[in-house]
Amino acid sequence: PVRTRFAPSPTGLLHLGSLRTALYNFLLAKQTKGQFVLRLEDTDQTRVVPGAEENVYEALKWAGIDADESPVVGGPYGPYKQSERAAIYKEYVDILLSKGLAYKCYCSKDRLISLRESAHKLQPPTTVTYDRKCLHDQSQGLESSDYVVRFKSPDVYPITEDLKRGKLDIQPQYNQQDRRFDDFVIMKLDGLPTYHFANVIDDHLMKIDYVIRGEEWLTSTPKHLALYQAFGWEPPKFVHVPLLTSLDEKKLSKRHGDVGVFAFRDKGVVPQALVNFVALFGWSPKRATNKAMKEVLTLPEMIERFRLDDMTKGNTKVSDSKLWFFNRSHLRSFPVLSSQLQELTELTFDDFAEQVSGSFDKDYYKKCLAATFGHIDKPSDVVKEHPYFFEDVDYSGIDVSQNQYMLKILEAARNELILERKPASVPALKELLPGQSAKEINESLRFALTGPVHGVKIHDIVEIIGNEKYLQRLENAIG
Ligand code: GLU
Repeated sequence: PVRTRFAPSPTGLLHLGSLRTALYNFLLAKQTKGQFVLRLEDTDQTRVVPGAEENVYEALKWAGIDADESPVVGGPYGPYKQSERAAIYKEYVDILLSKGLAYKCYCSKDRLISLRESAHKLQPPTTVTYDRKCLHDQSQGLESSDYVVRFKSPDVYPITEDLKRGKLDIQPQYNQQDRRFDDFVIMKLDGLPTYHFANVIDDHLMKIDYVIRGEEWLTSTPKHLALYQAFGWEPPKFVHVPLLTSLDEKKLSKRHGDVGVFAFRDKGVVPQALVNFVALFGWSPKRATNKAMKEVLTLPEMIERFRLDDMTKGNTKVSDSKLWFFNRSHLRSFPVLSSQLQELTELTFDDFAEQVSGSFDKDYYKKCLAATFGHIDKPSDVVKEHPYFFEDVDYSGIDVSQNQYMLKILEAARNELILERKPASVPALKELLPGQSAKEINESLRFALTGPVHGVKIHDIVEIIGNEKYLQRLENAIG
């Protein structure tokens, strides 16, 4: 069993790329019967966006990605919110300070700005690196007690190993003039650690075995490895997954286009479909034993089949039509929970009401949705593709009076309905009309009910529109 984590910063809405990262970590943990940890990386208080934390919890819950340990459910390695772990980080900063692998830096902002400016003025301009004044001389500390802690950069950074990409020699920016890397800050003025430091301490203390994260973190990995090395700890194994790009090449990063998970929910995408959709950008499931390879997968199926080896690299383009394909497939293949049906109804009812001319209540709309699931891509297609629920049917396609069997069948159906006060079933009609096949009966009834539109079961349509309308339609079709 392995432990994995998803470690979002609450800096915006949870977007598709993050959902995918969370999912992969979840799948790997569950597939090995290990634990999936959710950790909130909120040490950069200036970037925290109100509501973002709740959005992460809600979106993951909606998607069915449940954490075994998190700020919400707790766990043995908590707290799981970095802003509540300041004392822990301080302890580890002190360890590096005492080993001489980090130092306090009292330099003022003004001094750092002028260092940067002079670096820019050099020809050619060099990478800005801190000049290590405070490494050699701590006397500024006598004047001010404000300090940051810097990590003393090694002469060479460790080789990065990524399970998909192999060994990569990624070195941070190097200052040719001073012949060194920058001594990056691990603890800020406010006493909170920087992302790099907190991330490493927590992955170690929370016993994380595998880190699957976005490739935007690949260049940070050598810094993380240097910190692991400084502590003498074994680093987790890393997989960096390619960014999601939309077909128009715009980056779907949370800092750019904000494609939040709930924007998809609000358009009528069911969570199972969205999760299935994102899963396949970066993972290509192999056929399982003898079962045919299929793309439409439930979460339990994904857990069963997920393998790190089947993860792919390369940029992944997101296409809308594929998403709608998954939505329709999930709506068709798997039962939609009544709570989900209710949610979809609520979310899309206003749009629906604008599309139809008659007045239909929520309950009626909900029934139509339930009946058409599997035959539509999304709720907003119901009016366009199954108009017979909402308006009169046009019978001009077939002249029933000239069609001997249709006329007979529809008349029999009408008479039965009047006599029995309930619709006759297809087998019942067949008994009355021994010469007609079930197919002919079905076709005729469908024509009267829909005009004809295929898909939804005749029985379901009658039940929804009611006997009165059914009778009316039979009459109208007979002409
Ligand atoms: N807090 C980082 C983020 O917002 C986590 C990166 C990582 O997974 O190490 O994506």
